Amino acid sequence: MTKEQLKAILQLQEVEQEILRIEKRLGRIHQEEEQLRSELETLKGQLSSLLEKRDKLEKDIKNLREEIELEEEMLRKTEEKMALVKKDVEYKALLKEKAKHEDNILKKSYQLDDLQKELKKLKREIEDKKPKIDKRVREIEEELEDLKYEKDVALRKLNSLKEELERKKSSLDDSVVRFYDEAKEHYESLVVVPVEEGICTGCGIKVPEVLFSKMLKENSIERCPTCGRYVYYRL
Ligand SMILES: [Zn+2]
Repeated sequence: MTKEQLKAILQLQEVEQEILRIEKRLGRIHQEEEQLRSELETLKGQLSSLLEKRDKLEKDIKNLREEIELEEEMLRKTEEKMALVKKDVEYKALLKEKAKHEDNILKKSYQLDDLQKELKKLKREIEDKKPKIDKRVREIEEELEDLKYEKDVALRKLNSLKEELERKKSSLDDSVVRFYDEAKEHYESLVVVPVEEGICTGCGIKVPEVLFSKMLKENSIERCPTCGRYVYYRL
């Protein structure tokens, strides 16, 4: 490997590292989007279930009021009949009917009372929760928009980096690219790494003083005696 080839490999490696970084970021963006979407769905579900409950209660109350009106109407008719009947037995029968209607009216009035209380409570709950839910929904929608923008930028960058990588690879000898790909697999990551403060950043072991001195003075690319990676000096 000539120094020029190693420098080319280093550039190749930098582009690949940048590609990996952006791919990771895209993965996190995707996760964030999923979380926000699921939160959005939950919030919208909570709100619509509250509103549905309210609508149902309002409908039940309306129905119950109509039923009460009907009972009242029947009660009135029974009372009219009572004023007209002569026979005691008929009168007794009507009296029973009257009692039944009165009883129904009472029962339904209690039910109506309960439903109205329930509706009042529910409306208060909606009044309390709806603005909070609406606010969070708007926030999430804005966050999703930002993420989409970031994703578009990242994807464009990723494409241009991939093109750059291909350009760089095609400008190099096949043997150099092959060497790089094999070495990359062997080291499971970086092939050419900097030595910082005398330590190989590939394996974390100090390089011998003589080697370090040579890299420092000659700006050369050497091999780390511990891990075998290509190393160069970096301040
Ligand atoms: Zn090393």
